[in-house]
Amino acid sequence: MDTATAKAQEAHYSFFQGVERNFDKASKYTRFESGILEQIKACNSVYRMKYPVRIGDKIEVIEAYRVQHSHHKLPCKGGIRYSMDVNQDEVMALAALMTYKCAIVNVPFGGAKGGIKINPKNYSVFELEKITRRYASELVKKNFIGPGIDVPAPDYGTGAREMSWIVDTYASLKPGEVDALACITGKPVTQGGVRGRTEATGLGVYYGIREVCNTAEDMKKLGLPVGIEGKKVIVQGLGNVGFHAAKFFFDNGAIIVGLAEYEGGIYNEKGLDIYKVVDHRKSTGSLLNYPGATNIKNSAETMEQPCDILIPAALENVINGSNAARIQAKIIGEGANGPLTPDADEILNQKGVIVVPDMYLNAGGVTVSYFEWLKNLSHVRFGRMDKRFSENQNDSILKSVESLTGKRVTDTERKQILHGPDEVDLVYSGLEDTMIGSYHEIREALLRLDGKVDMRTAAFTVAIDKVGVSYEELGIFP
Ligand code: GLU
Repeated sequence: MDTATAKAQEAHYSFFQGVERNFDKASKYTRFESGILEQIKACNSVYRMKYPVRIGDKIEVIEAYRVQHSHHKLPCKGGIRYSMDVNQDEVMALAALMTYKCAIVNVPFGGAKGGIKINPKNYSVFELEKITRRYASELVKKNFIGPGIDVPAPDYGTGAREMSWIVDTYASLKPGEVDALACITGKPVTQGGVRGRTEATGLGVYYGIREVCNTAEDMKKLGLPVGIEGKKVIVQGLGNVGFHAAKFFFDNGAIIVGLAEYEGGIYNEKGLDIYKVVDHRKSTGSLLNYPGATNIKNSAETMEQPCDILIPAALENVINGSNAARIQAKIIGEGANGPLTPDADEILNQKGVIVVPDMYLNAGGVTVSYFEWLKNLSHVRFGRMDKRFSENQNDSILKSVESLTGKRVTDTERKQILHGPDEVDLVYSGLEDTMIGSYHEIREALLRLDGKVDMRTAAFTVAIDKVGVSYEELGIFP
């Protein structure tokens, strides 16, 4: 069944209502009065725009959105997606998830999201640039973008290229604004981006799932050995999130048994080499017919194959009331935003599956966006001030140890010990620390609630507690 049919069948609540439903489930376990809860839940500002763009010899009216869900911390933060599925409800739901996501990983931003209702594949690069630049100037006109106001980023269907068009449009409309680069994140490194941002969400998914697998007590309950090595993984969606997540799982000893894209899926219980699969897809135009693997014509059925860990990393609602019961994974890691409907959640929780929620697991992107924003505001590359200092210090410590012991380390060891942090080392380390720390905050909430709730509800309580305190301390403007 396709996503649209699944949505229709579960039409008793929209995506945004689904998020609200999860919020309500969790808010019972928090201490806030109903007014504060209502304020946290509400979308503060919804900007829907329509603007004309000349495409070929016709004028096309483009439908686009920017939603700021919360302002308890500024700027607001969240990506911009290009997809034909974009609509107000979807952008509102995704903006709300950003509020909770930022709170969970302790990124001091409110939540927002943007979207343009287009299929980017139907436009030339020049046309996409026109659509994007006009969107950026609409945001500037209404004060919906700026380093201290609202800072967009890439999402489904957009990337560093679109971000560089937006920052350039913004800077040209705000001449002399010294912090203009901080108006958007996910930029190319040459345009003020930070090293490590491209792979950040996928790497965060890996760090998060690795932490789940390193928690002995939980693995025992699932009947799985501790550690990521040897775990069988299926990844649905090979976009920026799915590809990088699969790569980090593969590089660190997990076995990628299944991969799915819109044209279909492939499965091999002995394992797939992600690099070779990507080369195969590039040269043939499809995942299918990869040597040694079984073809799965209906892409969604790939997720139903045997594995330990399933990572849905494309769009929302792909696991729903109609296919959840057939999922065999013991751990589901939400690489995408909202890949499980509330019905699916219920079915999988009853089966004892650990569902690691989106608002924690895919927060690596916004975490590294936060680092990029800090870099832009400080106008200096991470590591520039301290790399050489650390190397000199390591050198003198090593020399003292060698002279005291009369022994010498090998050249490879010397290189490793001396190495001072580059920008990418610091970004990875900040991300790793964030993903580990936040996982344990959620797990502690789970334990406090005596295991009465699932991990999504526990994550919501952590987020509500932080946002609630923020609103309380902010006071309510008379
Ligand atoms: N679009 C990503 C998300 O959904 C990143 C947002 C950001 O970096 O602001 O989390």
